[in-house]
Amino acid sequence: MKYVSTRGQVDSVEFTDAVLMGLADDGGLIVPERIPDLSGRLDELRELSYSDLALEIVSAYATDISREDLAALIGKSYGEVFDPAVAPVVRVGDAFILELWHGPTMSFKDVALQLLGNLFEHILSSRGGALNILGATSGDTGSAAICGVRGRKGINIFIMHPQGRISPIQQRQMTTVLDANVHNIAIEGSFDDCQQIMKSLAGDLDFKRAYSLGAVNSVNWARVLAQMVYYFHAAFRVRELTGAEKVRVCVPTGNFGNILAGWYAMRMGAPIERLILATNSNDILSRFFNTGRYSLGEVCQTLAPAMDIQVASNFERYLYYKVGCDPDRLRELMAGFAETGGLEVEVAPGQAVDDAFEAGAADTDELLEAIRACYQEHGYLLDPHTACGLSVAHSLVPAHVGSGRGQSDEGSPLVCIATAHPAKFPEAIKQATGSDLAHHPTIDELMGLPTLCETLPKDQEAVRRFIIETMSQ
Ligand SMILES: *Cc1c(COP(=O)(O)O)cnc(C)c1O
Repeated sequence: MKYVSTRGQVDSVEFTDAVLMGLADDGGLIVPERIPDLSGRLDELRELSYSDLALEIVSAYATDISREDLAALIGKSYGEVFDPAVAPVVRVGDAFILELWHGPTMSFKDVALQLLGNLFEHILSSRGGALNILGATSGDTGSAAICGVRGRKGINIFIMHPQGRISPIQQRQMTTVLDANVHNIAIEGSFDDCQQIMKSLAGDLDFKRAYSLGAVNSVNWARVLAQMVYYFHAAFRVRELTGAEKVRVCVPTGNFGNILAGWYAMRMGAPIERLILATNSNDILSRFFNTGRYSLGEVCQTLAPAMDIQVASNFERYLYYKVGCDPDRLRELMAGFAETGGLEVEVAPGQAVDDAFEAGAADTDELLEAIRACYQEHGYLLDPHTACGLSVAHSLVPAHVGSGRGQSDEGSPLVCIATAHPAKFPEAIKQATGSDLAHHPTIDELMGLPTLCETLPKDQEAVRRFIIETMSQ
């Protein structure tokens, strides 16, 4: 399998190059030259364990790593640091919850970042050289990425987070990691500022090459790839539980990384009827899927901070397919977006923007109500991101009745992706339920540990200087 850039201006590369490149050298995102079709193999895939299923899916894309090596990397990623179930599906009322928080930092980010850490180490050990990871986090990527690479030889990691805009627990999950190769940076700005600094430093090719900059954000293709696995897995487990041929999957969305993996999985033949995209009040993506217009708003802080994003970096991958894999058209749209803060795709009258998606947003009251109601009715605690998902999924159901968008919706079970453990967001749980219910020993132990973090202004030159100084020590 070869990989190309959405902007069409880099030579095609192999999988391992794509993983090291992170952001494509022309400023675009790396995409596979084609999408493999696994639809004829579902009966066989259904029978597999999580790790064996991951091997089948990852090996369809990672064609320049041997199957034996991939099996070992996947085994290390999911066999040792995850709870044995990896990604359990549990029934909560009339929906199913796909719990993706059974990894070491208790968000779904671990699923991809454990594998990515192992991939980096494997690729560097066979090629030699070093890697300096520069990342931006709205909360959970940072801790999962740090956990994926801490203490690994040849890898340094620099993670920027927006100062004061991630939860104290998320901050501690990162800044209490004191390994010498881990460098936390608090940026005096928003997540979009952090992401902008990361993109422009990674876009400075001389700097990128001189300092071997790599990416752990979902611009890295390996993250999207690792996340495809659980969409197949969820549909298979729900079929065992209900006999349903297909599922609808609701995804709390920020950077469009998780749900993009679901879209690829659908294209590969995963038995998914539709994806439900859920945002919080930062609703640029849900507005897009309802109107065809993608336009920037102001970032507002919510109780679901990992989704407090306006510029969704992975949206470019989706848009590339939407414009028929035409890099010239894509570049035009992205240039227009950079200039005006908006872009638009054509939507035929009376048609949905994309039949694969439905979309909605949940505001703070709605997400709190979803947490409260779910706990009261089912004794199950949702984290605030997952609560956005369930709230949106439930709000969309009535719209189907008589809408002509497929009566089968009524019959397809709903799977909602639980992106984090509620103990990561105790304030939201307290606000919703009135009680301090969300605890986990791993989280509680973080308080009182020493921390290390550098504060910098929202200025890419300050970050560049910090990296250069750190590397020269
Ligand atoms: C990262 C994150 C999200 C958003 O995921 P995207 O891939 O950016 O859409 C949602 N919920 C939680 C808890 C997260 O950590």
